[in-house]
Amino acid sequence: MSKMNPYEMFLKQVDEAAPFLNVEQEFIDILKEPKEVLEISIPLRLDDGSVKVVKGWRSHHNNALGPYKGGVRYHANVCKEEVMALSAWMSIKCATAMLPYGGGKGGIRIAPRELSTGELERMSRGFALGISRFMGTDIDIPAPDVYTTPQVMSWFLDTYEKVKGWSEPSCYTGKPLEIGGSLGRGDATARGGMYVLREALKDMGLFGKPLKATIQGYGNAGSFAHALYEEIGVTVVGASDSKGGTYNPKGLNYADLMKHKKTSGTVADYPGGDKVTTDEILQAPVDILIPAALEGVVNEGNAAKVKAKIVLELANGPTTPEADAILHEMGALVIPDVLANSGGVTVSCFEWIQGRTGDFWSEKTVHEKLDERLTQAFTEIWKIKKEHNIRMRQATYVRAMGRIISAMRFRGIWP
Ligand code: NAD
Repeated sequence: MSKMNPYEMFLKQVDEAAPFLNVEQEFIDILKEPKEVLEISIPLRLDDGSVKVVKGWRSHHNNALGPYKGGVRYHANVCKEEVMALSAWMSIKCATAMLPYGGGKGGIRIAPRELSTGELERMSRGFALGISRFMGTDIDIPAPDVYTTPQVMSWFLDTYEKVKGWSEPSCYTGKPLEIGGSLGRGDATARGGMYVLREALKDMGLFGKPLKATIQGYGNAGSFAHALYEEIGVTVVGASDSKGGTYNPKGLNYADLMKHKKTSGTVADYPGGDKVTTDEILQAPVDILIPAALEGVVNEGNAAKVKAKIVLELANGPTTPEADAILHEMGALVIPDVLANSGGVTVSCFEWIQGRTGDFWSEKTVHEKLDERLTQAFTEIWKIKKEHNIRMRQATYVRAMGRIISAMRFRGIWP
């Protein structure tokens, strides 16, 4: 894990892009602070009758472009700074994908696997109740993140609507189809990453060539990447989760590995591969490394050992600024999180639009709209990258910060 706190990572990323933007320092200063952060304590009644007090946060980073948008994370290590950083990255990400949103994020410090289903429901409802006055369809729209699922979104939505006394399906996204979800939301994060990767491979003259990849973090984003990327000629040879990894240089079979993960709870011990550590997954001799778990996994301690020539950041914040610089020096391309994983929030936006209009789009429509939007974002960012001869993350921040600051300038500073 990186020694740098994730919010400091965000500040450094802003500073690295700022010299390429001709804007007033006051706007950079505003972007460096979240607008407001709500901290709540949830008294959770456990099944044995005792009460555990759980801490949670919802951070509103910036809303110049529209209501705050971002997921809710359940993890034992969640802290205020992490939630603040994730909300700031959401501001950059929503601007990158040209969505009418600002950045928000939530988190609860809990290990969800230690809770029964009933405890998980009570805790989710407690969180939704605690943040209910802080959110709404035009204020703040949460969604899934690490260890939160469509079922959790259903409990959040139901609690919010019962508190308010009306139906408001677009105040949460990532819902099951039955209560207003969108087709194409499940694999949207990995699919958006695939479109962006495809464009990068085309520009690098690698599209259509056989390529190998490893995936660190075999959850929603990571496992769907395995399922989808074969479409563009990428063979996944290694994957890991919190319990360890598996590696087979000839390739891992998706259906077989998922079946194993469902029955055993982990990809480690998969009989079709050799057991490896997460570090071995990060340092494997592949073309593409896909971090899809948590922050700071590629850092100054291990960046020089990464052999992949492309790092596709499906996770948020997996590469520290120091590692970003080392990888760049080594000639590797890091496709930054705020672009690579923006498919999730983009299809969340499509779900929000469908909920507000009462419309329902086909999966084909969702895929086409996602492809069009991310291909355009990639093209514009690639151009900035080449023009200034800078890293892709810097180019992405230049474009996104430019959009947010332009909106702030029109709005003015008031009162
Ligand atoms: P998830 O809970 O479905 O999966 C997370 C996976 O990471 C799990 O398989 C877990 O075992 C694994 N993991 C945890 N610690 C690990 C470690 N030390 N080494 C290897 N694996 C480890 O979560 P997700 O929704 O897939 O999110 C993963 C990342 O993608 C996060 O950074 C999240 O913020 C980002 N992301 C997700 C979405 C989305 O729509 N789900 C959108 C954008 C970004």
